[in-house]
Amino acid sequence: MTLWISRFVRTIQAKLIIIYVLLILIAMQLIGVYFVSTMKHTLTNNFTQELQTTTNFVLMQVGPKLDMVEGTDFERSREDLNAIVRSVSNMNGIEIQVLDATGKVLTTSSQPDDNYVGRKNTETVVNRALQGLRDNEEVIIGKDNERKKVLAQPIQYGAKNLGALYVVASMKDLYDTIDNINRIFLSGMAIALGLTAVLGIILAHTITQPIKDITKQATRVAEGNFEGQVPVLGNDEIGQLSEAFNDMTRRLQEALSVNEEEKEKLASILTNMSDGVLATDEHGRVIVMNKRASLMLRIRPTACVGKELSALLGLAEAELRERVEDKMNWMLLPVHAEEEGEADHDSILRVTFTPIHRRGEGITGTIVVLQDVTEQEKLDQSRREFVANVSHELRTPLTTIKSYVEALDDGALDEPQLAGRFVGVIHNETERMIRLVTDLLHLSRLDSKQAKMRMQPIEICELLEEVVDRFSFQFQNKHIQSVVQIEASIPKVTMDRDQIDQVLDNLVSNAFKYTPEQGTITLSASIADEGKYVAIVVQDNGMGIPEKDVERIFERFYRVDKARSRNMGGTGLGLSIAREMVIAHGGTIGIESEWNEGTCVTFTLPLSAPVSLAQPEETEGSEAEV
Ligand code: ADP
Repeated sequence: MTLWISRFVRTIQAKLIIIYVLLILIAMQLIGVYFVSTMKHTLTNNFTQELQTTTNFVLMQVGPKLDMVEGTDFERSREDLNAIVRSVSNMNGIEIQVLDATGKVLTTSSQPDDNYVGRKNTETVVNRALQGLRDNEEVIIGKDNERKKVLAQPIQYGAKNLGALYVVASMKDLYDTIDNINRIFLSGMAIALGLTAVLGIILAHTITQPIKDITKQATRVAEGNFEGQVPVLGNDEIGQLSEAFNDMTRRLQEALSVNEEEKEKLASILTNMSDGVLATDEHGRVIVMNKRASLMLRIRPTACVGKELSALLGLAEAELRERVEDKMNWMLLPVHAEEEGEADHDSILRVTFTPIHRRGEGITGTIVVLQDVTEQEKLDQSRREFVANVSHELRTPLTTIKSYVEALDDGALDEPQLAGRFVGVIHNETERMIRLVTDLLHLSRLDSKQAKMRMQPIEICELLEEVVDRFSFQFQNKHIQSVVQIEASIPKVTMDRDQIDQVLDNLVSNAFKYTPEQGTITLSASIADEGKYVAIVVQDNGMGIPEKDVERIFERFYRVDKARSRNMGGTGLGLSIAREMVIAHGGTIGIESEWNEGTCVTFTLPLSAPVSLAQPEETEGSEAEV
């Protein structure tokens, strides 16, 4: 209960009520004090004046009678005096005593008068009056606490001082009237205070209720509930406050939804970005991280938030700080496969650091962007290797040519036999260089997609037989048997004849180069992949390729046995050119080989219209043995 009271006293409603009541109380008190004192003063004055008038009236009548008392007929005069005094006393309810010059009571209005008559009145006012002083008055308090006004006037007749008139008037009525008025005033004040308290409650309620409503709504808004509005009950200050609050709620909701939208946008951008993004606080601890970043760093996203960035990237604190603050704000970070031996899954990340500056506070965080540059790095690496390979391939024949030219210059020219051999070597090396440069040119055209393709329908049978024809002389020299097998149903295939000729030349020349004497080279063509492709196979029973090299055999300049390939006039580009050309046609190429058993290269070309595979049977085979 006391708690409730102390809480209530602290409310605005209670304060307003208390203020109203106190104001009314103070106002009423002031008015009351002024009013009561003025009224008391006026009533007392009126009472005194009335008493004096009565006294003067009695004095006028008593003077001649008292003069006569001193004379002859004392008893009659006394009775006259008695009659005057009693009639006035009866009329006004006052007590009158007529005293002689010595202060002895001659007559009195009180009944019976035996106690007073003849006795001396020694009161101060009487003494003063007997001395001739006028207007002697005082207030006395009687036996039963009754206030009385006492007045004493000298009785003068002519120039003689005959005695004094002593008048006592009860002030009871006067004070009763004042008390009544006081009571009326107090009850009026109590009613006014009660009414003020009630009005105060109502008035305070009209002020505090909207404030309570606003407080409730503010609590709801703070909890994130923007529904509902504060009622606007008027255009006064509280109404304006309610309107302003509603307006503020609306704007806050708008701002929050914009903020949320921005957050969602940011989250979806972060989620769908192909780059990894991390954000850290001023202490270098991760606060935001997208999924891509965790995939790139190969860690679970939940395990990262709150961790030190330096620990995540495996960098020393000082190095990280240097990167963030320096101009050179990026680095390449190798990330190794989780399991050992999976070197293919190793990746290289380009990590860019962007510090976040806040005015006056310096760096308050860092944004880290991770880009997977593994492919790019591999490409750069292979480009570097390519340039090195080209330089190397060109330097070897050039060095040979140079040394032979020098030898000729040094005198070999004079020996025709030697000179002839030297010129032959120079010629071979030059041929090789021309082949190399031609191959490179081919590759570069294929790479830059500059090579225009002249597509035309070609009979596969004719194509393969022509290849064999081109090599027939070489086959003959090496006693190699060539076989051509073609499925009967193969339609014409749309291709760039020159390019496919080049592919076949490369494959057949390889087969020829790496097949010993008496070997067999088979060229076959069949429908593959549910009639959508034609597969052309070049197979030999030569030396084959070791298993470890098969995988890389299509790489540029890749050779199993460099010296031997070079001796055979190979450039190491034949298979890669073939692959580029087949891919340009929309086909595929693959190699199967077994060391010392033979090699089988298969490439496919798409057919313009799929062929039905209804007649899988035999083929019209053309076997040629040269
Ligand atoms: P090259 O001009 O050296 O022949 P290629 O790209 O055509 O270059 O071939 C790459 C390497 O593949 C060759 O050096 C050779 O070692 C190997 N190779 C290609 N075809 C065959 C084959 N039919 N038999 C054995 N090895 C082959």
